[in-house]
Amino acid sequence: MEQTQQPSLDSRFSRDEITAAFGPNLEFDKNLAPYTSYGTGGPTAYFLSATSAEEIAEVVKTAKKLAIPFVIIGGGTNILVSDSGFKGLVIKVDVKGMASLGSDVIECGAGEQLEDLVNYAAESGLTGLEFAAGIVGSVGGAIYGNAGAYGGEIGAVIKQFVVVDGDGIIATVPASHGKFAYRDSALKTNGEVVVKAEFQLRPGDKAEIKKKVDDIVTTRKAKLPYDCHSAGCFFKNIPDPAAEHGKLAAGKMLEEVGAKAMSVGGAAISDKHANIIVNTGSATSKDIRELADKLIERVYARFGIRLEEEVVQIGEFPKGRKSIE
Ligand SMILES: Cc1cc2nc3c(=O)[nH]c(=O)nc-3n(C[C@H](O)[C@H](O)[C@H](O)COP(=O)(O)OP(=O)(O)OC[C@H]3O[C@@H](n4cnc5c(N)ncnc54)[C@H](O)[C@@H]3O)c2cc1C
Repeated sequence: MEQTQQPSLDSRFSRDEITAAFGPNLEFDKNLAPYTSYGTGGPTAYFLSATSAEEIAEVVKTAKKLAIPFVIIGGGTNILVSDSGFKGLVIKVDVKGMASLGSDVIECGAGEQLEDLVNYAAESGLTGLEFAAGIVGSVGGAIYGNAGAYGGEIGAVIKQFVVVDGDGIIATVPASHGKFAYRDSALKTNGEVVVKAEFQLRPGDKAEIKKKVDDIVTTRKAKLPYDCHSAGCFFKNIPDPAAEHGKLAAGKMLEEVGAKAMSVGGAAISDKHANIIVNTGSATSKDIRELADKLIERVYARFGIRLEEEVVQIGEFPKGRKSIE
């Protein structure tokens, strides 16, 4: 029987040509919603899960050669994918592996869950990563956004890390290369993919470390909506030297403008935290986007401050807000 060719979303290439270029593991028209904590969003034209630096490097080189736009995802806990999906290649970083190097360094693949790294460090009697207890998502995603909580940030405990650059070159770089700042890193502008990292920790009392991890997880579970579809805090806090801890809490401003009573379609604000937009079950990414826009407008009208987003958009959004397209 004659085989019917599925039309490729990139009309320049046939399905066979794309498969030949990227290899047999490439998937087509893959629904991204299950790969995001929001559970929303449309399909990506091409999808590939990459498990090594070499594989990522090859994929990046091929995408560049064919001029196919690509984006990276890890755990999908800090992204909002357009309902119309992404007209390019999504590379899911699935580099695994954790190992102790010497007495106080842990090497970890970017595709490992940050929670597993925190537990591995605790089991190894190494202190320094407890602050990250309960932060969901991958180690690579945490490095990209310099994830943090309780006064700690992941960038501060990195010794060195391995990246693949936009030309597909693999390099080991020192922590300083990351230019880590509050929820920010050089990766947001240089487009490098994190493959793995070494964390510089300190020997400590195993029981104390484990207790700290457990206490932080318990506190976070009481304060944050872990049982809902969300991406954590939608907006960054605002740096302000005069404010407590040097930042104006976006959640506090949102609380004051009545955010908790607001909703658009299936998107609403968590009753536990005014800076967390949740998918109550039927939300589209458009609902979430529109609610975020309303929040920005309200805060601007009251405080004259424009909230900046922590959540990263993938694909096209009607209002044309900053996103990877
Ligand atoms: C309930 C809840 C609580 C949260 N609490 C916190 C908190 O306390 N502190 C905090 O900082 N965050 C918090 N978050 C947000 C989220 O957990 C972090 O931002 C997390 O580090 C994102 O990792 P990820 O793997 O899911 O990234 P993804 O959502 O997959 O991607 C986010 C960004 O990182 C990039 N990226 C992912 N992997 C790589 C890689 N290997 N190389 C280069 N770029 C990459 C992506 O391109 C994208 O731009 C919370 C989220 C939820 C749902």
